[in-house]
Amino acid sequence: NGTLFLVPTPIGNLGDMSPRAVKTLQEVDLIAAEDTRNTQKLLNHFEINTKQISFHEYNTKERLPQLVAKLQQGLDIAQVSDAGMPSISDPGAELVQACVGRGIRVVPIPGPNAALTALIASGLCPQPFLFYGFLSRKNTERKEQLQGLTQQTISLIFYEAPHRLLKTLKSLGEAFGTTRQIVLCRELTKRYEEFLRGTIADAIEWANDSEIKGEFVLIVEGNQAPLPEEPKAVLPLEEQVDLLIK
Ligand code: SAM
Repeated sequence: NGTLFLVPTPIGNLGDMSPRAVKTLQEVDLIAAEDTRNTQKLLNHFEINTKQISFHEYNTKERLPQLVAKLQQGLDIAQVSDAGMPSISDPGAELVQACVGRGIRVVPIPGPNAALTALIASGLCPQPFLFYGFLSRKNTERKEQLQGLTQQTISLIFYEAPHRLLKTLKSLGEAFGTTRQIVLCRELTKRYEEFLRGTIADAIEWANDSEIKGEFVLIVEGNQAPLPEEPKAVLPLEEQVDLLIK
């Protein structure tokens, strides 16, 4: 069998491409890329001549068996997404699962990731945290997802596209209340990198008044005053029954 390498790519700053990531892309037989045209620019920059094959959410079904077959034939494949870590709100997880299930070696290369980059500079509690990624675009589904998070006491990390930011901030305000702390981490590693820190109400006001451009990670403070849990039975029901039967 060959090896599947998971290779993170810069989230905005080419200087973040690690020497090991470059070397891996040079040495593998094939690069499975979310968008081959996008990745070609990266390959050109680092003078990498490896052949690419497209692998994204819309061709996963047909590509997955092809990639697995190539790995089983002994080819080494590197998987990359458009930016950051493959599999993290990006294609990749199915291929990893397929490899793990077939005993094909999976080698992760550490590197850029928007969520952790945002978290460490947010000033909010860095652990424990919950990485959510993108909320649903559908109103009812998004509401349900957020309802499930209201009692979480740990920091919450969301990704969002700029044109949906305001709507998402309003949904966060409705679910969590507008006084919770939030940090909008914008254009990480890029020229206009910025951190907007305040309450959800402040963030909504900012988003209302600004032309929202760039990429955003949202870090939301956990619930500082969660509701008390339902009182529990002294013993779990099964054990109570066991006692009665004895
Ligand atoms: N795989 C990537 C990673 O490891 O972070 C995430 C890919 S996901 C499709 C893209 C989202 O990540 C964006 O909508 C944004 O929320 C976040 N993101 C990516 N690059 C960013 C950056 N430079 N600054 C802020 N957020 C970024």
